[in-house]
Amino acid sequence: HSAETTAERMPQDAAANAAKQATGDVVEHYIGGERCGGSQRSAPVYDPATGQVTKQVLLANAEEVATAIETAEAALPAWRATGLAKRTAIMFKVENIIRTRTPELAAIITSEHGKVLSDAAGEVARGLENVQFCSGLMHHMKGDYLEQAASGVDVHQTRQPVGVVACITPFNFPAMVPLWMITTAIAAGNTVILKPSERDPSAAVWIAEAFAEAGLPPGVLNVVHGDKEAVDEILTNPLVKAVSFVGSTPIAKYIYETSAQNGKRVQALGGAKNHMVVMPDADLDGAADAVVSAAYGSAGERCMAVSVLVTVGDVADPLIEKVADRIGKLTIGPGSDPKSEMGPLITRQALDRVNGYVQGAAAEGATVVVDGTQKEFDGDGFFTGISLVDHVRPGMKVYDEEIFGPVLSVVRVETYEEAVKLINSNQFANGVAVFTRDGKTARQFEFEIEVGMVGVNVPIPVPIGAFSFGGWKNSLFGDTHMYGPESFNFYTRRKLVTTRWPHPSESQINLGFPTH
Ligand code: NAD
Repeated sequence: HSAETTAERMPQDAAANAAKQATGDVVEHYIGGERCGGSQRSAPVYDPATGQVTKQVLLANAEEVATAIETAEAALPAWRATGLAKRTAIMFKVENIIRTRTPELAAIITSEHGKVLSDAAGEVARGLENVQFCSGLMHHMKGDYLEQAASGVDVHQTRQPVGVVACITPFNFPAMVPLWMITTAIAAGNTVILKPSERDPSAAVWIAEAFAEAGLPPGVLNVVHGDKEAVDEILTNPLVKAVSFVGSTPIAKYIYETSAQNGKRVQALGGAKNHMVVMPDADLDGAADAVVSAAYGSAGERCMAVSVLVTVGDVADPLIEKVADRIGKLTIGPGSDPKSEMGPLITRQALDRVNGYVQGAAAEGATVVVDGTQKEFDGDGFFTGISLVDHVRPGMKVYDEEIFGPVLSVVRVETYEEAVKLINSNQFANGVAVFTRDGKTARQFEFEIEVGMVGVNVPIPVPIGAFSFGGWKNSLFGDTHMYGPESFNFYTRRKLVTTRWPHPSESQINLGFPTH
């Protein structure tokens, strides 16, 4: 991937080249420690706040992905043999680089994703939690030892990397989700192909270069941009031993099934529909603040966003009034403007889809209390207003499907039991919250709710980095959660060694099955 090869590899198609020059940058792959060009296919990257194309991202073909995988495979022997002290030093260094340069990374995220800068910095901080966790890799990579398992026999277990692993990430957290995956994979001695979302691809390349600056050898972390064609090569290439995925449920299911068919280890996190239950004894102002923050932060484009408010008994009317009142005071604008509390959506298609749910809700029998779709904005950015939809029930599209936008549905129930039944019947089970001042109710909710991550008076219960992250049901295919301790299980193979040092005189032939 020298400069000459890069130039040669740039798209030959004159029209495509001209379009790229007219719009600015090309987002290149990062393979073997260098940025490099690729095939003729590319896709536009937008600034969602203006609606303008700002860059073109290359879309790798199967052959290019295979080359990147071979680069990772070539880097594997040296990396897995690298001392843990040296790996640890790289973790500390990259944490320091990313932390001190967070504003730079946040600006890149905002320019392609649209979220407000403080939110972008927040996702970087949550991603860094896993880098901090991985700085203790010597502890996480420790094995086990059992002396005298039988007479004169000892058994020990080591952890070894699985090999080349692939990380396929969604648009909504272009820095945090890659940091959840790649950091543990690298810490455990694997080499990595990161395939970020083609809608906001630049943060991944920035992160790869930060790792290189911290001393990570070339080829250990490679970034390949692309779409289905690139992903399908990852899923079928025999050199790839494990696949981590976060994205929408239909694709997560496809990734899970195809990886398994090809003999790969796989964890695939999918979509969500997160409920927040407010009990009659809850502090309503606190609950209103919490639900507005959790429903509309990042324009609802969070897998842990609250999208359904479940009101129990009499709380419905006063709570909805408080929520509507707070919505009216929020500032929507470009993510780069410090006054903005909510930015635009990711694409025009996303905007049309989200608005469609709100516009169709009344015909389904729901009541649109605040209609954000009618709000007017200057320019061509992918902005929509904030919406609140009341009297929503299962069977309505606005309830059944993941909207992934600034739309909060309210389902009114009479009892705690009804709330639990509603949530336990949902196909998604990522996050859930209960707001109450009664410990017994909270304890019972925690015990019987069938959801992977539960908040008690906490609306977005993303576990701190010392634990691992994952939902249940259609929110996670596979059994290993992401980042933290479980990810060291995912990215390592355990090897069991049974040892005996007998005196030659003890040797004998015994065709019986070895028992102790
Ligand atoms: P997506 O499923 O469209 O894309 C995710 C990744 O899959 C991207 O890298 C994309 O290039 C690739 N991809 C897309 N279509 C593909 C296809 N047909 N074949 C192979 N690969 C394909 O998801 P998105 O829109 O980028 O992200 C939003 C979704 O991610 C939401 O559903 C959200 O709930 C989910 N999400 C879940 C979690 C979680 O922890 N469970 C976290 C973040 C996001």
